[in-house]
Amino acid sequence: MSRSAARKPSCEDCYFGRNLLCALPEPQPCATFRPNHPDGLRPPQQLRFVFRSERRTRAVWAFPTAQEQAALHA
Ligand code: SF4
Repeated sequence: MSRSAARKPSCEDCYFGRNLLCALPEPQPCATFRPNHPDGLRPPQQLRFVFRSERRTRAVWAFPTAQEQAALHA
Protein backbone atom coordinates (compact mmCIF):
# COMPACT_ATOMS: atom_id res chain seq x y z
CA MET A 1 0.00 0.00 0.00
CA SER A 2 1.45 3.37 -0.94
CA ARG A 3 1.58 6.28 1.40
CA SER A 4 -1.02 8.24 -0.57
CA ALA A 5 -3.42 5.30 -0.30
CA ALA A 6 -3.03 5.19 3.49
CA ARG A 7 -5.89 6.50 5.61
CA LYS A 8 -5.85 10.11 6.58
CA PRO A 9 -5.06 10.64 10.24
CA SER A 10 -8.03 11.46 12.41
CA CYS A 11 -8.55 12.11 16.09
CA GLU A 12 -10.54 8.86 16.28
CA ASP A 13 -7.39 6.96 15.29
CA CYS A 14 -5.08 8.98 17.55
CA TYR A 15 -3.62 7.45 20.72
CA PHE A 16 -4.22 10.66 22.68
CA GLY A 17 -7.79 11.05 21.47
CA ARG A 18 -8.70 7.41 22.15
CA ASN A 19 -7.25 7.50 25.66
CA LEU A 20 -8.78 10.84 26.62
CA LEU A 21 -5.34 12.41 26.83
CA CYS A 22 -5.94 15.15 24.27
CA ALA A 23 -6.39 18.67 25.64
CA LEU A 24 -6.88 20.42 22.32
CA PRO A 25 -10.36 21.97 21.88
CA GLU A 26 -10.66 21.36 18.12
CA PRO A 27 -11.24 17.74 17.06
CA GLN A 28 -8.91 18.05 14.06
CA PRO A 29 -5.79 15.99 13.48
CA CYS A 30 -2.72 17.89 14.63
CA ALA A 31 1.05 17.46 14.52
CA THR A 32 0.93 15.47 17.78
CA PHE A 33 -1.02 12.65 16.10
CA ARG A 34 0.28 9.23 17.04
CA PRO A 35 -1.46 6.10 15.78
CA ASN A 36 -3.45 4.21 18.38
CA HIS A 37 -1.96 0.75 18.76
CA PRO A 38 -2.81 -2.07 21.18
CA ASP A 39 0.77 -1.88 22.49
CA GLY A 40 0.36 1.82 23.28
CA LEU A 41 2.81 4.45 22.17
CA ARG A 42 5.72 3.06 20.28
CA PRO A 43 8.79 5.09 19.37
CA PRO A 44 9.62 5.38 15.67
CA GLN A 45 12.09 2.86 14.39
CA GLN A 46 15.62 4.12 14.22
CA LEU A 47 18.11 3.46 11.48
CA ARG A 48 20.35 0.51 12.09
CA PHE A 49 24.10 0.72 11.98
CA VAL A 50 25.78 -1.73 9.66
CA PHE A 51 29.42 -2.29 10.52
CA ARG A 52 31.78 -2.97 7.69
CA SER A 53 34.55 -5.52 7.84
CA GLU A 54 36.84 -3.39 5.64
CA ARG A 55 40.00 -1.65 6.77
CA ARG A 56 39.62 0.91 9.51
CA THR A 57 40.97 3.71 7.35
CA ARG A 58 37.43 4.10 6.12
CA ALA A 59 34.23 4.83 7.99
CA VAL A 60 33.37 1.92 10.28
CA TRP A 61 29.66 2.20 9.74
CA ALA A 62 27.19 2.73 6.92
CA PHE A 63 23.49 3.29 6.67
CA PRO A 64 21.51 0.31 5.40
CA THR A 65 20.87 0.14 1.70
CA ALA A 66 17.47 0.99 0.25
CA GLN A 67 16.87 -2.72 -0.33
CA GLU A 68 17.62 -3.49 3.32
CA GLN A 69 15.27 -0.71 4.44
CA ALA A 70 12.53 -1.97 2.11
CA ALA A 71 12.96 -5.51 3.46
CA LEU A 72 12.87 -4.20 7.03
CA HIS A 73 9.56 -2.40 6.51
CA ALA A 74 7.93 -4.98 4.22
S1 SF4 B 1 -3.49 14.98 19.79
FE1 SF4 B 1 -4.09 15.97 17.86
S2 SF4 B 1 -4.62 14.27 16.50
FE2 SF4 B 1 -4.59 13.46 18.58
S3 SF4 B 1 -6.71 13.60 19.30
FE3 SF4 B 1 -5.66 15.47 19.94
S4 SF4 B 1 -6.06 16.96 18.29
FE4 SF4 B 1 -6.50 14.91 17.48
